[in-house]
Amino acid sequence: MKIGVLCIQGAVREHVAALEKCGVEVICVKRKEQFADLDGLIIPGGESTTIGKLLDRFGLGASIIGMIVEGKPVYGTCAGLILLARKVEGSDQYLLGQMDITVARNAFGRQRESFEAPLSIASLGEEPYCAVFIRAPLIKSVGENVETLATCNGEIVAARQGNLLVSAFHPELTDDTRMHRYFIEMVKEWKQKQ
Ligand code: GLN
Repeated sequence: MKIGVLCIQGAVREHVAALEKCGVEVICVKRKEQFADLDGLIIPGGESTTIGKLLDRFGLGASIIGMIVEGKPVYGTCAGLILLARKVEGSDQYLLGQMDITVARNAFGRQRESFEAPLSIASLGEEPYCAVFIRAPLIKSVGENVETLATCNGEIVAARQGNLLVSAFHPELTDDTRMHRYFIEMVKEWKQKQ
């Protein structure tokens, strides 16, 4: 199994380390020809406008959309969540637009730019999950094919739509690999169907 981490900008190294800890082969991807070889992709946190501009400029957005249409799992964290969304409130930035969610950027306000919160995430088991939020977005609304996986103070912060997984928090910044393992299971399921 080969999982790519989009290596344009943002928290790339930490995702690579977390995936390697889970025992899968990881590839840092930044060229079009690298995508075809992948079984899954993580789009890391960073600055969604910057990542989006570069995806557009180098034609990589089309390659990612191609993977998604093929059914390959893609996991967007924080800025990655924003890029996967169909709509971002008050912004006309470049989006991959593949997930039926509406997102508000930087939704937790300035004074709380960074915080940790224990979340109860049924898909990850009973033990609370310590989620790290950094200038995080919120999912304001979801379409009917979207499953809410986690909420924080009543707001949606993780969701899944078929082969797409998103979280507003940064799973790569903790030692808890359960979100990465959940994603790896999605990739395994996809591979088994091939
Ligand atoms: N605030 C960033 C954005 O809007 C996302 C922050 C992050 O990825 N940690 O793109």
